[in-house]
Amino acid sequence: DELIRIRDIGRKYVIGTETIEALKSVSLDIHKGEFVALMGPSGSGKSTLMNILGCLDTPSHGDYILNGINVSHMTDNQLATVRNKEIGFVFQTFNLLPRYTALENVALPLVYAGVSKKEREERALDALINVGLENRVDHRPNELSGGQRQRVAVARALINNPSIILADEPTGNLDTKTSVEIMALMENIHIKGNTIILVTHEEDIARHAHRIVRMRDGLIENDDLISKV
Ligand code: ADP
Ligand code: ADP
Repeated sequence: DELIRIRDIGRKYVIGTETIEALKSVSLDIHKGEFVALMGPSGSGKSTLMNILGCLDTPSHGDYILNGINVSHMTDNQLATVRNKEIGFVFQTFNLLPRYTALENVALPLVYAGVSKKEREERALDALINVGLENRVDHRPNELSGGQRQRVAVARALINNPSIILADEPTGNLDTKTSVEIMALMENIHIKGNTIILVTHEEDIARHAHRIVRMRDGLIENDDLISKV
């Protein structure tokens, strides 16, 4: 019983007379609670696959079944509804709103979900405590370090209890020490039962996952479980 079932999906981009097959034929099952690293050279189709996984895009052919729902043929509005409920995003560039405090940034997804102000603040505070930022609640992004900003982004991604966390190079803008801290946080989130899919170019970062999917030329080249010592 998989959380994610991808069956022979493809994604073509047509530019003028040229067609690029960014994904040729990809099949992938991911169970609830898995921690998957997605790797592969630039242009291999990772972003295209992540966009489909995150319900930002749909495949040109094939099926994507998320939590039992076939989202392959949904309209943009339907996709947005699924996305807000099911997906938490973490980005390389944090994507926080600069004028908002850490608490307000974390609470933002709850505004769209129609949660009351009091409950939003309580839940956002809890989420910030969980990522170790209880002393930075009222700080704005430019008053925070890169690692702290990414912690805020992780808290925001988790606030709606999404089915999947999609992290696109979450350590790409962080130094080695801070990257290790953020990956420890991701492992912690994984241990609590969350499903995580993470794109990274770095083997040291991918090692924190328990499964590595490697892409090449729009195909999955390799899909291996990592043995943990
Ligand atoms: P990766 O994330 O592994 O670098 P991408 O999914 O971004 O790979 O790209 C896969 C292929 O699809 C590349 O050849 C890329 O140039 C092409 N591509 C990606 N997005 C688009 C787009 N929006 N329009 C046209 N071509 C695209
Ligand atoms: P990364 O590899 O860091 O994920 P990319 O540079 O591959 O980022 O892609 C950044 C964005 O540009 C993505 O949304 C991707 O879909 C789009 N993109 C990539 N290649 C092309 C392309 N050839 N034409 C148009 N858009 C593209």
